[in-house]
Amino acid sequence: MGSPSPPQPHALVLPFPLQGHIIPLMELSHRLVDHGFSVTFVNTHFNHARILDSLPGPRAKTAPLRLVSVPDGLEPGVDRNDIGRLTLTISEHMPGHLEELIRASSTKSKRGPVTCIIADHSMAWALDIARKMCLRAAAFWPGSAAMLMTILSSPNMIDDGTIDANGVPTEHRMIRLGPEMLPMNTAHFWWNHLGGPITGRIVFDSMMRGNKSIETVEWVLCNSFAYAEHPLFNHAPRICPIGPLLPGLKLDRPIGLYWPEDSSCEEWLDRQPLKSVVYVAFGSLTVFDQRQFEELALGLEIMGRQFLWVVRPDLTKADHTTFLGCFEERMAGRGRMVGWSPQQRVLAHPSVACFVSHCGWNSTMEGVTNGVPFLCWPYFADQFLNESYICDSWKVGLRLCRDAGGFITKEEIKTKVEALLGDREVVGRALELKEMAEVSIAEGGSSYNNLNEFIESMKTYV
Ligand code: UDP
Repeated sequence: MGSPSPPQPHALVLPFPLQGHIIPLMELSHRLVDHGFSVTFVNTHFNHARILDSLPGPRAKTAPLRLVSVPDGLEPGVDRNDIGRLTLTISEHMPGHLEELIRASSTKSKRGPVTCIIADHSMAWALDIARKMCLRAAAFWPGSAAMLMTILSSPNMIDDGTIDANGVPTEHRMIRLGPEMLPMNTAHFWWNHLGGPITGRIVFDSMMRGNKSIETVEWVLCNSFAYAEHPLFNHAPRICPIGPLLPGLKLDRPIGLYWPEDSSCEEWLDRQPLKSVVYVAFGSLTVFDQRQFEELALGLEIMGRQFLWVVRPDLTKADHTTFLGCFEERMAGRGRMVGWSPQQRVLAHPSVACFVSHCGWNSTMEGVTNGVPFLCWPYFADQFLNESYICDSWKVGLRLCRDAGGFITKEEIKTKVEALLGDREVVGRALELKEMAEVSIAEGGSSYNNLNEFIESMKTYV
């Protein structure tokens, strides 16, 4: 009698429950499915419901990618954007549910047992579960490699006095994590920009524990590409870039969005002249103060160009419907507002001239891959670091500068849009960087090869 055939590769994929983490991990899951894997994609109950509600059809039920959910430990109605609290309850409540899910896959699942775990670095406790249950494992970082390197370098930075044991910089100054690397302002360490010192400390502690969990893991992946962050990968050879991970223009598979896309703006874009539209979007988390929100609207009004502006229902704390109603009437014909756009397709549209962005990493990679120049308006987390990449390293965008009161004025918006669109060098470099991104993900490119090597290695068993 021959030995029993090995089980089919079955990956359990676990994102941190934020939009910018779910989207690239869902894309990675689709790539695994394309290579013959079954995938069990684990969301929190809260996000699972939002994602299913936002699907235009019953795609999730039929896809080989199975969406499942576990509780995040927070009561209904509690603010899920409180990242510190979420980090704590998740690490307390989720591990037990995850182990249960994995055990159940050995006995109940038609797909066979889970054979590997791919966990967000922010959920690195799951890698300890993989070790305990003898499964293959990989850590995934949805941001820049530089952002990951700051956390991997934290023990050294504590030793040399750059930060204290809570991750707080002892002084604000420019540093480099390695020779020729992007200079960073210690004031911009991302964990200190997540909503206050307590949150910063919780996340920093969790990341330091994560560093230990990834020590023995074979793969530490990130959603970046070698050219974009060279020479970082020479200094941190464990970090393996496999990006930009983008679904491209495919419409037939779930990408894990929280809000339904309003694709009517694509027809509107079709009617606009080539490279005429200023696209304005701030990701899934940014919340505007009402005065700044209105100043942005007035900036779009006085700039006198076509624009497409994503106004999420929760973009401001106050009710902005009356203001927006009047604004929309004044802007009819020239401006278009949507609650949530099909951003990746919008950025690929030939009518789009530039991207006013909060510089979230996914938005950054999406703008880069489409050769769209940026106007940077960072708010928190890693966005200041990403702005430095865009403006100082790649030179594919300009900063929007705040006035003495911390506001970006309507005049600043108008002036910088004109400056950006008139700057042939920036526009040209954006196209060059797009080519480099394309080369890295095309057959034979560095990200393409890394991704394939990773996928093949995950098909074998511990
Ligand atoms: N996004 C989108 N439609 C929108 C705004 C954003 O599909 O109207 C997507 C965007 O394409 C990106 C993600 O939401 O993939 C936001 O991630 P990012 O890292 O840029 O920002 P975050 O939401 O984490 O701040």
